[in-house]
Amino acid sequence: MGLHVYNVLSRAKEEFQPVVPGRVGMYVCGPTVYDHPHLGHAKTYVSFDVVNRYLRFLGYRVRYVQNITDVGHLLDSGEDRIERGAARDKLEPMEVVEKYTWSYFDDMDALGVHRPDISPRASGHIPEQIEIIERMMAKGHAYVVDGSVYFSVDSYPGYGRLSRRNLEEMQTGARGDPREQKRNQLDFALWKRAEPAHLMQWPSPWGRGYPGWHIECTAMSAKYLGLPYDIHGGGLDNLFPHNESEIAQADAAFGTGYAKYWLLTGSLNVDGVKMSKSLGNFVTIKDALADADAVALRLLVLNGHYRSPLAYTRDALEAARSGARRLALASEKLATFLLSRGVDSDDGTVLNGEPAETRDRCVEAMNDDFNTAQAIGALFDAAHRVNVLLAEPTPPQETLAGFALVLRGLGNQVLGVIPNHGRSLEGLTPHLIGLLLALRTELRTARDFARADRIRDELSAAGITVEDHPDGPRWRISG
Ligand SMILES: [Zn+2]
Repeated sequence: MGLHVYNVLSRAKEEFQPVVPGRVGMYVCGPTVYDHPHLGHAKTYVSFDVVNRYLRFLGYRVRYVQNITDVGHLLDSGEDRIERGAARDKLEPMEVVEKYTWSYFDDMDALGVHRPDISPRASGHIPEQIEIIERMMAKGHAYVVDGSVYFSVDSYPGYGRLSRRNLEEMQTGARGDPREQKRNQLDFALWKRAEPAHLMQWPSPWGRGYPGWHIECTAMSAKYLGLPYDIHGGGLDNLFPHNESEIAQADAAFGTGYAKYWLLTGSLNVDGVKMSKSLGNFVTIKDALADADAVALRLLVLNGHYRSPLAYTRDALEAARSGARRLALASEKLATFLLSRGVDSDDGTVLNGEPAETRDRCVEAMNDDFNTAQAIGALFDAAHRVNVLLAEPTPPQETLAGFALVLRGLGNQVLGVIPNHGRSLEGLTPHLIGLLLALRTELRTARDFARADRIRDELSAAGITVEDHPDGPRWRISG
């Protein structure tokens, strides 16, 4: 079975077939950069990190675009979040944006999240947003009131299709802001007139102002991915009105279709309540990383399904921490064993038997709408088998090399829940010892025993004991 994804648009699992064969365009709604990111952000962006990595593992050429919202995302009070941050930190709005954009990338780097290919900023795409608004106006989908521009939901019958909302139902109970003179209370702002005291404002055909929030995602995804593109991701809490409005804008301006597959993540909950800045019940990623390492936090997220809400508890974090240790230990022991035998699992290892079964279980799970929990279950089983095999009097090298390949490919490169012992600095020591022992064997073959013994003696002085066995030398740390 090939890759199947749950498409929120159809509310069904569908076979993944990209618009252009072999290529994937993916856009994920990024953070609003006015404070340090919290674990709710970790859940969303680690989840899409794995989607991104897995698509590449399958051989797709991926372009991953994730925006930085640095203007237009307003609080209920009508205040721009960035301006709220500027007042709080006593900084220029763009200093706030800079500070928390780097904070965000620092945290994502620390979590092992691969960077998107493009991270466009809303404030850097004002002309593109104005151009799309003009297209909508030309087609009768938008209108101007007193320097602000609104999208007319009555002009677009598809409004509500993604969130499965009925326009008439939404109408009853819709309470608009009395300061806005909209034709329909459900109409949303594409461009807002700026009061003189508003810090972030730009010239436009309608006077000085700033863009609405939804328009940036339509403008930047269209610009960098072209329409239609393959995957639109983000948090489920942005389904309405944000994502719904993105589709309406794209259809109204271009009429070419927008995103083919909508993948939305469930939230991270604390005591059953969504973790969020506005609710004040959040743990920052920096605080969490002081408590647990990145792999443990990734395991915490990936032990659940990306669509499900995740309950954050100390117990769940503790379980993830011990799980991370188990995986790392098995993989480290395995790497050390293979290097001490001079086996490079990258070099012509053919997967069959147990390692092939592990790979198949992982791929099958990931192909089923990125079931990371099941894939991780297969990796834990593999780690257990590795420990059992390593304890045998004569560990089967070929099988173990196969497991190393699977743990690195799926565990490290796709899921990022196993450190790369073979390739990281910590894995360098066994690698170098393996190299010295290979040189020693060559010297012995050339009957240069003096130099061969010197290698053994120097290693012994460094605390490494070398033993010769019929199948080659082995080493261990003395003591
Ligand atoms: Zn967005």
